[in-house]
Amino acid sequence: MKYFIKTFGCAANEADSERIASYYKARGFTQAKRIQDADDVVINTCMVRQMAEDRVYGLVHNLQKFKTQNSKLKIIVTGCMVGMAMREKTGKMLSLLKEKMPAVDEFLPIEEVGFDHAPIRTDKTHAWVPISNGCNNFCTFCVVPFTRGREVSRPFEDILLECRQLTQQGYKHITLVGQNVNSYGADLLLGSQKDAILLSWKDRILLQVKNVKPTYVKHLGRLRIPTLFPQLLEEICKIEGITCIDFISSNPWDFSDDLIKTIANNAKISRHIHLPVQSGSNEVLKRMNRWYTSEQYIAVISKIKTQIQNITFSTDIIVGFPGETKEQFEHTVDLAKKVGFTKAYVAMYSDRPMTAAHKVFTDDIPHEEKKRRWKILEELINKTNLRAGTYK
Ligand code: SF4
Repeated sequence: MKYFIKTFGCAANEADSERIASYYKARGFTQAKRIQDADDVVINTCMVRQMAEDRVYGLVHNLQKFKTQNSKLKIIVTGCMVGMAMREKTGKMLSLLKEKMPAVDEFLPIEEVGFDHAPIRTDKTHAWVPISNGCNNFCTFCVVPFTRGREVSRPFEDILLECRQLTQQGYKHITLVGQNVNSYGADLLLGSQKDAILLSWKDRILLQVKNVKPTYVKHLGRLRIPTLFPQLLEEICKIEGITCIDFISSNPWDFSDDLIKTIANNAKISRHIHLPVQSGSNEVLKRMNRWYTSEQYIAVISKIKTQIQNITFSTDIIVGFPGETKEQFEHTVDLAKKVGFTKAYVAMYSDRPMTAAHKVFTDDIPHEEKKRRWKILEELINKTNLRAGTYK
């Protein structure tokens, strides 16, 4: 029996697909080189934009014809589309998926794929290592809190164990993956005794040794650990055999002084940081529910540049967010010039179900105008070398 996995979307989906592959291997399946040779086709979906969703519908439609040639062919859909459908309480979304993709045999929530087997890595020297899943931030444009649910951190020791095992297999470069890696650990202790008991004894000792105390986080309106991400990085840096560590994605609001210090003191940590800004306009950032201003973002960048030599930055930007005026867009252009990003993933705003932006705002920027803004940033950041940015 053979399997084939088609992955859409981000690094987190890539890492999930490697774990799905491990389940097939454990059941005696081998990997098919071509989709048409597989008995089980797994489609790991993304919902970040409508286009990503449409590609899934198109693929399932095309696979239908293979079903007539191979009656054993099973189509399994997992990932964000299923995550959101399962979390949508009325069941309407799941019914809609079934209606739109009648050829699908199974809708599999990704949570059912655990960490019991070593992932089947697609690369021989570089490995994705998931450290958390989900997000608590609820940026108004983003489906992730609905598709992946609330942030859940993997136990500290499990991550270190996986990293140590990777070195035994010859891996030298690891990328830590999560929706908000630098808030890693924030959910391990919520300030109540009940939740603290859920920690493993090793994690509890670590908290005591590091003297980590819960603090009140304004934008979440609750107590949480500031973040254990610097501590996690420090421990991974101690593992012999690992020569390069990077992470995706981090967020400006959890980029603490401790984290900057940890990166500065450990040459194994990459000198390139992906730090999504999304917009350079404070009004737009506020409507996006991003808890920083453009000035604060630039201040973090400046602090990092001062403390870490030869650091470079990439980012994510959304153009054409509801109500974004031309002037507000120009603030994003100004910010990009100041920071000097080496790369930007520029996206035209796409209205996503269940998000606050979908419920409250109107997707009122015409497609042509979104495209015009997209082109300006593409030209500015990705086609010219902005690294020589003037900002110091
Ligand atoms: S931080 Fe915002 S954009 Fe990133 S995953 Fe969470 S909700 Fe989405």
